[in-house]
Amino acid sequence: MNFDFHRHRVHDYLFLHRRWQSLARKAGLKRLTYCTAEEFELSCFISPALESTRGIYLSAGIHGDEPAGTEGLYQWAELHRSILRELPVMIFPCLNPWGLIHNRRTNSENQDLNRCFHLDDLQRIAAHKQVMQQRKFRLAMCLHEDYDAQGVYLYEIRKKLTTFGRELLAAAGYHIPIDSRVTIEGRRADQGWIARRINLKKFPEVSEGIYLAANYSERTITTETPSEYDLGPRIQAHVAMIQRAIELSFV
Ligand SMILES: [Zn+2]
Repeated sequence: MNFDFHRHRVHDYLFLHRRWQSLARKAGLKRLTYCTAEEFELSCFISPALESTRGIYLSAGIHGDEPAGTEGLYQWAELHRSILRELPVMIFPCLNPWGLIHNRRTNSENQDLNRCFHLDDLQRIAAHKQVMQQRKFRLAMCLHEDYDAQGVYLYEIRKKLTTFGRELLAAAGYHIPIDSRVTIEGRRADQGWIARRINLKKFPEVSEGIYLAANYSERTITTETPSEYDLGPRIQAHVAMIQRAIELSFV
């Protein structure tokens, strides 16, 4: 893989979109366009194996300056193209196309969409929630990067399940060192693993992960790769974490 090539193009949203459309056609995934925002059609891809319960939710690109998430999700899917129709996946390849193009965390109105899941008057969020309605997921993964990170780390929210976050980190650690700080983003971390609880009183601005955990998913993982590291290993770390999480979800 020539990562210099991708370095130039990871912010090329139309290129990403074309690749997803082609992949979905070959893999037999259904494209569902649920909203138009900033002139971009927001879509998700649904496998024929997805049922109303026990699905797998994967999303990337809610923050446009975190391209290893969008690119990692695509590369994972491309790698597993032949089995995607048998995996019960619902995939949101890029939640903030405008942000990806402009290398910005926010949308064009300077809103951090990952702090907006409590807002029902924001059309793209309302439409996103609408397509999730009536569904339950065994696993939800939201792929992110962090400018301040010193390695890869992740948040895990789970309901009555044993943790598997550390196994994801072990898989990612082959590509990027694990962030060993004991406090990350104000939370206690254990070798890159941060157990989170849903606390809507303390954090009234609801993120995608918290919203999913509160309403739809048994286990919610938010991955973070260090955006100051080389792009190639950041992408590969995401591919590895998605792959490991899906393997462990079927044990
Ligand atoms: Zn982010």
